[in-house]
Amino acid sequence: MKTSEIQNLSIAVVGGGYGGAAAAIALRNIGAQNVHVYEQAPALGQVGAGIGLRPITVELFRQWGIFEEIAAVSSPSDYLEILSADGGQVLAQEVWPQLNDFEQPNHTRIIHRGDFIEALLGVLPAEVVHLDHKLTSIEDLGGQAKLTFENGNTVTADVVIGADGIRSLVRKQLFSDQEPVFAGEHAYRAVISLDDAFGLGTEDNNPRFYMGQNGTIAYNLPLPHRGQLSYDITAPSEDGSWAPEITNDYLVSLLEGFDERIVKIARNLDLSQVTSRSVFDIDPVANWHTDSVALLGDAAHAMLHHQGQGANSAIQDAGGLADAFLEAGSVKEALALYQATRKPATDELQRLSRMGWNANAVENAFPEQAAAK
Ligand SMILES: Cc1cc2nc3c(=O)[nH]c(=O)nc-3n(C[C@H](O)[C@H](O)[C@H](O)COP(=O)(O)OP(=O)(O)OC[C@H]3O[C@@H](n4cnc5c(N)ncnc54)[C@H](O)[C@@H]3O)c2cc1C
Repeated sequence: MKTSEIQNLSIAVVGGGYGGAAAAIALRNIGAQNVHVYEQAPALGQVGAGIGLRPITVELFRQWGIFEEIAAVSSPSDYLEILSADGGQVLAQEVWPQLNDFEQPNHTRIIHRGDFIEALLGVLPAEVVHLDHKLTSIEDLGGQAKLTFENGNTVTADVVIGADGIRSLVRKQLFSDQEPVFAGEHAYRAVISLDDAFGLGTEDNNPRFYMGQNGTIAYNLPLPHRGQLSYDITAPSEDGSWAPEITNDYLVSLLEGFDERIVKIARNLDLSQVTSRSVFDIDPVANWHTDSVALLGDAAHAMLHHQGQGANSAIQDAGGLADAFLEAGSVKEALALYQATRKPATDELQRLSRMGWNANAVENAFPEQAAAK
């Protein structure tokens, strides 16, 4: 589409998470001037945990002119390491895929989730982001769509991007009423001071998986710029409640045979600072778009966290969406092109993420690279 056409589009993004914020940034970057983000939360907030932003994601931040804002609150990492539970054996150690594929090396950046959303929303003008706007219904009018919010406001836009997460209302009302699927596991996450980490997280800036024999995985991501370590445990469980109750003794019982430092951290954790969640994904959604509405991020393809690709995929969707608007001749074509470009990759990541990890058969750190060969 011509820049003048993109400029005049009214675009409403539902959801101010990573995907929604990135979509607004990417669309503004190609000249869209009338983009608004509607977020249900009255204030910003994110689970205390770290994530890794992959080289290809970081390249998009460069394209959008926001690399410095992200770099200021993250640390570069060279590789990912997977170890036996006791840390005695390195099962895989690999440089992040595509680190050297760009004009300048793009290290994976390890970032705290709260810092990440603040950095993304922080580059958007205040008038673009509308907090306290919970979508209650969406009506597809053909060339436009109408949104109704719980606070009584309504918005009609030429393009609506449903970036409203794994329990997306946009998906439910327009594309699929299938419920999220419980993975039979929990994720327990905390960010602790490096002073309380018994030396873990100080070796270098690289994340490490420790693989237990009972399906438990401990995942450490150093956040040296904050003097902290992001400490995650994923463990099998049949309890699918939203926020499972845990005790320190229970966490310690999951960690039999693990590096003593990981066990000691679990013993000392302040549980009021631990986020405990059942883990869900969704089955692939056959179709993500109409002529004026498209899903993005977890709303389109929520995946398990085993490959660390959910947030990365949401950012890459935003890049794919902006590219599609530049390439296509109309909104209708752009949304079809966006799905055609992004869905094969995210279908594959959903599949690989469901395969999880087998501690006795770790062949590589990045199964998506092996699968692509
Ligand atoms: C344990 C765990 C670890 C993970 N680790 C990683 C990792 O290392 N790397 C990685 O890339 N990904 C990781 N992920 C996945 C990542 O968190 C998600 O994929 C990512 O948050 C998706 O972003 P999103 O913007 O699509 O959705 P969300 O972050 O869920 O944002 C959706 C937004 O929409 C808003 N919203 C919802 N409904 C409405 C409504 N009706 N009206 C208005 N607003 C609404 C929500 O409040 C929210 O702000 C992990 C996930 C889990 C559970």
